[in-house]
This record gives sequence, C-alpha cells and structure tokens, in this order.
Amino acid sequence: MSGFQRKVGVHFSDAYERHDTGPYHPESAVRYRALVSALEDLPQEFIKLPGRRAAVAEILLAHEHYYHDLVYRDVESFADKLRTGDTAICEESYDVALEAAGAVLEAVDAVMRGDVDSAFCAVRPPGHHATASRGMGFCIFNNVAIAARYLQGRHGLGRIAIIDWDVHHGNGTEEIFIEDPSVYYLSLHERDIYPHTGLATDKGRDKGMGATMNIPLPGNSGGDAALDAWDAMITPALEAFQPEFILISAGFDARINDPIGGLLWSDETFAEMTNRCVALAEKWCDGRIVSVLEGGYNPQGLAAAAVAHVRALAGEGRDRLSEQSACMERE
Ligand SMILES: [Zn+2]
Repeated sequence: MSGFQRKVGVHFSDAYERHDTGPYHPESAVRYRALVSALEDLPQEFIKLPGRRAAVAEILLAHEHYYHDLVYRDVESFADKLRTGDTAICEESYDVALEAAGAVLEAVDAVMRGDVDSAFCAVRPPGHHATASRGMGFCIFNNVAIAARYLQGRHGLGRIAIIDWDVHHGNGTEEIFIEDPSVYYLSLHERDIYPHTGLATDKGRDKGMGATMNIPLPGNSGGDAALDAWDAMITPALEAFQPEFILISAGFDARINDPIGGLLWSDETFAEMTNRCVALAEKWCDGRIVSVLEGGYNPQGLAAAAVAHVRALAGEGRDRLSEQSACMERE
C-alpha cells in the first residue's frame, strides 16, 4: 500500500515565471522555482493537473468590469505596477493572471468530475488581497473568489467555505463575500500587520452576518495557537455551516523563518491544519478540496511547508496517526 489514502492533483507550470516582479521582490519567480522543484519530486501517486486560461467572463464572476479593463490597460501601457496598489506587473502579467485563475477552475472541474479527491494549485500571482475593484498586496485577480463563484454558477453548489491561512488577512476575499451567507470566509492571520484588516469583531454584514470569521494571532505565536483556534472555533463553525466544497487560500508565510510573516508555524502545523480540512471535507462534501497558493517568501520554507500540506491532503499523516494509535492499542 502506498500510504496515500486520497487521490491528489497538483498543478504547477513554468508559465507563472513570466510574471516578472523585478529584482529583490519577495513574490518572485525564485520562490516559485523552489516550490516547483519540490513538487516535481512528489511520488507518482500525485496526479499532475493541466492549467487553462480563464475567460474574461470568469474573471468577472468576482471582479468589476472596469477593474478587469484597468489591469489590461496598465499591463498594455508597460506600467511597472497596478495603479490601484502595490502589485508589481510586467508585460506578461495580464496573461499570467488569467492562467492562474483558469488553472484553479480547471482543478475545480477535476475534483467535481471525480478525477481527483482534492488538488493543490501552485499559481502566481496570488489573489486574496484583490477586491472586486482593486488589486493590491502582490495580487491581481482573486483566484479563490472566482473559484467559489464558479462552483456556485457552473457546478450548482450552494455553500462554499474558504479557509485562508496566509499570514496576512485576505481583505479582498472577505470584502467580495462580506454580505454573502453562502460563502463562509475564515481567516487565521497575524495581528497588526498588512493589510490591517481582519479584526475578530468583523463577522460579516447584512445577510452575510455570521459568515465571516477572523482569528488574528499575536506575532511570534506558534502552531499550537493556530491549532487551538482551529479546534475551538474553525471546526465548530464549519460543522455548523456544512460546506459543499472547501477552498483553501494556502499561504505559507506564517511558517517560521519567513522574511515577511512574524508567526512561527512549522511544516507539521500546515499538515495538521490540512488533516482538519480533510476530516471536515470527508464529512460534509465527499472530500472535495481545492487549495490555492497565496504567499510564502522563504523559498525553501515555502517548498517544505507546501509539500507537507500536499502530502497531508493525500491522507499520509492520518495513516501514520492510525498506525500510532494501533501501536498504542497493542501496547
Ligand atoms: Zn501573505
């Protein structure tokens, strides 16, 4: 037996290296190459998923038309950053951003067809800071938000959970769904850092009240604080919500030694959070999870944490846990 209980798709592509953010930028092709070389070394049980280019109509599932056109025009005019915020761009960035969003939709389709149980999409640029009308924080289009709307519109699902464990609050995703009770946005993030949103008191608005959960953690806190928050707050909230699909905004910048994030999570923390997602997904939505890369700026740390996450998606950690408990029972 391989030790992998679940079929996991993995998507990565050299195409994302075409999004050139310039020398010394933390969200760089260098970090991406380190991640890809680790993903290439995964065992053959992991299934490589193709990408595709998102249609403009798909971008508009989560973005204003004028913002889409603004991105196109900024890129066409050789601007070096989006006029809406701190997102570096080059002449390829519009195309690469369409590829990133499209690959996530392709992974969603693969999971919905049952080709794989779950999938990890190593795409860039990241998306969770992009609001409907504004790119910022290294993000252009909100890949996860587009996927949530696509699951509802194309696949007819109702309740979608988005779990965001990037060290930064996903202000864009929160804002897009703030009034929407059908998309539950949960964020674990470091307190008092960029983008300075995501207070614990922000729980949604109007009809969406109660479908947003923010868990700000103090700087220098470790994985135990995150896992305690999971067990006390996130798992009970998702048990009550009963998601039909789980999307993960998988940033790895909360990992120890990240140059931007100030939390101290280990690779095991990411595996443990993933185990909790898998348990919830198996209970409520046939195990359906699509996880999408956000931040993570220490190239080797990003690679190690993402591999721990992907292997846990395949159920590897749980196998070990059940072996451990079987051993304990024998003793
Ligand atoms: Zn981040």
